[in-house]
Amino acid sequence: MSRVNLVGFLPAELEDLAVELGASRYRGRQLATWIYRKRVFELEAMSDLPKDFRGRLGERAVVEVPEPERVTPSQDGSRKLVYRFADGNRISSVVMPDDDRITLCVSTQVGCGFECRFCLTGVMGLERNLTAGEIVGQVLGANRLLAPDQHVTHIVFMGMGEPLANYAALVTSLRILTDAKLGLGYSPRRITVSTVGLVPGIEKLGREALKVNLAISLHAASDEVRGPLMPVNRSFDLKTLLAALRRYPLAHRQRIFFEYVLLEDVNDSPDDAARLVRLLRGIRAKVNLIPFNDWEGAEFRRPPLPRILAFQSILLDAGLTTTVRWSKGEDIGAACGQLREPVPA
Ligand code: SAH
Repeated sequence: MSRVNLVGFLPAELEDLAVELGASRYRGRQLATWIYRKRVFELEAMSDLPKDFRGRLGERAVVEVPEPERVTPSQDGSRKLVYRFADGNRISSVVMPDDDRITLCVSTQVGCGFECRFCLTGVMGLERNLTAGEIVGQVLGANRLLAPDQHVTHIVFMGMGEPLANYAALVTSLRILTDAKLGLGYSPRRITVSTVGLVPGIEKLGREALKVNLAISLHAASDEVRGPLMPVNRSFDLKTLLAALRRYPLAHRQRIFFEYVLLEDVNDSPDDAARLVRLLRGIRAKVNLIPFNDWEGAEFRRPPLPRILAFQSILLDAGLTTTVRWSKGEDIGAACGQLREPVPA
């Protein structure tokens, strides 16, 4: 029988396991502390656990944090970490240092099933969901790679895959990451979940009271433009999406992030900007404009810089907080929408 990986177990599940093995719940809490707080991954090194408990545990379970198969550094200081799983599938995470922040971009699926036209991950289709352990493992794996005095400070669910299409694993990983006592202890304000706009998932996430940030891949301000770009718009059009967002529970001073990839002559005109202003009226929003990142075979182009800045100005003049996000890691295929790893034959 193969042993289970304890990375990805909720603290409460580790307590249940301890009881199952004839120990007290307290032993489960110690186990969670070792794995998630002290980041010690060898059972032998968990010195305050009784030897016989460790022995029984070792027959059933391992603590396994994935080792990247490849680490590719970018000119801009970011690094792409490629992981290969036992089934041969590969995913990537991207570490992005910026002043005193280190942001990690994590994947939630191998590939993606939503087929956004401008996204290379969409081209490869969906292979499978990641487990909660494989998601949390990306954070532990990145932290292990960093210097002892450094650690990931912010986490964005913006890698391969659609987080809300892997809902159960997403929420379990968020609970482990944000558990202040027995988990990794990340403030929810430092975590952002990005979605193509799956309305039922957005509504469910709102009810979890996790308080993490929500980012919407909007990319267009009318159904006419968004429909052909993002097939998901046929299931949930802008009216339905925006209605759900207006109801979304936000914490004090929290805002919804809107991502808008700028595609030349597709969605980058002054009229598009004005429509976007009207669409977001009344929502506590922050807009991130992402100039399109090219990939081989793409049918889109990045607009020239003046066009990008003109679009931004219209939003700023209307009072919308708007930044232009120059993606990191473009030279190593790690930028937004460029993540694709070879799949096993
Ligand atoms: N599936 C989720 C998580 C991925 S986030 C989502 O779509 O929100 C990755 C972001 O990069 C999304 O906003 C996506 O639309 C955007 N993106 C995809 N391809 C891109 C490209 N070629 N250039 C710039 N941004 C891109």
